[in-house]
Amino acid sequence: MKPVEVQSKTHQTRMNRRKFIQNTALTGAGIATGVAAISCKESDTKALETIETASVPLAKPTYISISTWNTEKANTTSGELLAQGKPALDAIIDGVAIEEANEENTTVGIGATPDREGNVTLDACVMSPEGDYGAVLAVENIVHVAALARKVMEETPHVIMAGKGAEEFAYTQGFKKQKLLTPSSEKAWKEWLKTSNYQPAINVENHDTIGMLAMDTSGKIAGVCTTSGLGYKMKGRVGDSPIIGAGLFVDDQIGAAVATGMGEEVLKTVGSFLVVELMRNGMSPQKACEEAIHRIVKKGDRYKDFQVAYIAMNNAGETGSYAIHEGFTMMKYSDGKSEAIVSDHFTKKP
Ligand code: ASP
Repeated sequence: MKPVEVQSKTHQTRMNRRKFIQNTALTGAGIATGVAAISCKESDTKALETIETASVPLAKPTYISISTWNTEKANTTSGELLAQGKPALDAIIDGVAIEEANEENTTVGIGATPDREGNVTLDACVMSPEGDYGAVLAVENIVHVAALARKVMEETPHVIMAGKGAEEFAYTQGFKKQKLLTPSSEKAWKEWLKTSNYQPAINVENHDTIGMLAMDTSGKIAGVCTTSGLGYKMKGRVGDSPIIGAGLFVDDQIGAAVATGMGEEVLKTVGSFLVVELMRNGMSPQKACEEAIHRIVKKGDRYKDFQVAYIAMNNAGETGSYAIHEGFTMMKYSDGKSEAIVSDHFTKKP
C-alpha cells in the first residue's frame, strides 16, 4: 500500500474553510456564523482561521474514491493513485480501465454482452472538477472508452461523439482497434438467440456498469461512467451512462453522483443531476440517493422488474448509496482502507 501524502497546513486550512462554510450554511445553528464567514473580507482571514482552528476538526478523509458494484480492484487502483497525489480525473480513468480490460466483466469494455445483432457497443462519459464533460456513445472496437470520452472533452470542440465518428477519432488519438466480442460473449449471445427473450437482469452478479467518483487530495471532485449498456439491447440503443445529468453529474462545489441499472428510468428522472441538486439543497448523499430512487418507484409498480442504484459523495467527503432492490454494493476507498458497502434498498422488508 502506498503511503498517504501528508497535506500542507495551507491546504488543510483551505479545505477546512470550504467545509466550514458549507457545514455552517447547512445547519440551523450555524446559519449566522456561516453567513459571517462567507461575507468576511480578506483582511478578516486571520480571524476566520482562528475560528476554524478552534471549532472544526481536520477534514477527513483526505481523499476518497467510490465505485458502483463489486469493483474492488478498480476502485483500489483509483484510491492508491489519489494517495500518491494524482488528480481525481486521472485516478478514476485509470481505475475504470481495469474493468474495461477485464474480459470476465460482461457489462463493460472487452467481453461485454453485445446487442441483439452481436455488436458490442460501448458508452462512457467523464466530468471534470471544472464542470467540463465529454462522452462517447455506441462505440465499437475500442476498449478504453472512458479515456476516449476524456479525449472528446479535452481535444475537440464538442462534448459528445457517437458511433463511427467517435471510433475514427479514437484512432487519431492513438487508441488500438480491438475485437470486443470474445469467444465467451459470442457463445452466450448465440445461446440467447435461441429464445431472443429480452429480459434485463436485476443484478448481473454484482458486476455491472462501472461508475466511479473521486475527491483528490486538493479536494477536487471528478466522475466517470463506462458501460456496454443493457445486454441484448436493440441496435443503436443508448442508456443513461454517457448522458450528462442522467448517468453522471459532478459539481465540484457540491458533490457528484453516478447511476447504474435500468438506464431508461434514470434518464426519465435525470437522476444524477437530481441527486447533486438535492445535496445542494442540504441533503446528505445518502438521503439524496434515497430520494432519487423514490422518484422512480413512485411512478408505479414497474420498478419490481428492474434495478436502479445511485452512489454519491459531497465535498465534505461524505458518501451514500441506495438501490431499488437488494444486491447492490458500493466500493469505497479512503485513507488507505477499502470497504465493500452493501447498499440499503427500497424493497427491504420493514
Ligand atoms: N445504466 C446502464 C444502461 O442503462 C446499464 C447498467 O448500469 O446496468 O445502459
